[in-house]
Amino acid sequence: CRCRQACRCLSDMDTQLESLIKRLARLPGLGPRSARRAALYLLQNRDRLMLPLAEELGSVARTVRNCAECGNLGNADICGICSDTQRDRSLLCVVEDVGDLWAMERAAVFRGTYHVLGGTLSAIDGRGPEDLYIDRLVSRASTGVSEVILALSATVEGQTTAHYIHERLQSLPVEVTRLAHGVPVGGELDFLDDGTLAQALKARARLG
Ligand code: ZN
Repeated sequence: CRCRQACRCLSDMDTQLESLIKRLARLPGLGPRSARRAALYLLQNRDRLMLPLAEELGSVARTVRNCAECGNLGNADICGICSDTQRDRSLLCVVEDVGDLWAMERAAVFRGTYHVLGGTLSAIDGRGPEDLYIDRLVSRASTGVSEVILALSATVEGQTTAHYIHERLQSLPVEVTRLAHGVPVGGELDFLDDGTLAQALKARARLG
């Protein structure tokens, strides 16, 4: 800061820097405090981090787009998963957002294709079926798909959405399944909440 008297640098803080901090604070997981720390860290590492990051943000914003088929993010109109001929097109896994798709891919247990809804139905947030890619899902499900797997959150919104989609798909010759809810791998019963424990008991399976 350039002030030499009793420091008023916070109120004098460059409005540009202030605006950067405000923008950073809007990122998920960052509040004003961590946004200030991030801005300082960036400025302390201008050449090594800040400038390359700025360039990368611009180029990713311009080139990365949603797949016209499934809604995944990628560099082309059709994403890598949808254009992969090794993937099983008869299995369609429905997820809320691209982050969930990434989680499924990280687990590397699914060889079918995806459909990104773009959120869940929510009365509180005013999100109805027309705000999600449900029509597109119905039309995809009617072309060579044998099973639609609903990989949605175990929340009220997630389950309402699953129920709605199930109804919309009822007239089609597809099997509609959902992920099992229950005891996580490595989880101890003592630490589970009541809802999870109740679901796990309800969905119990025969041994062997
Ligand atoms: Zn795709």
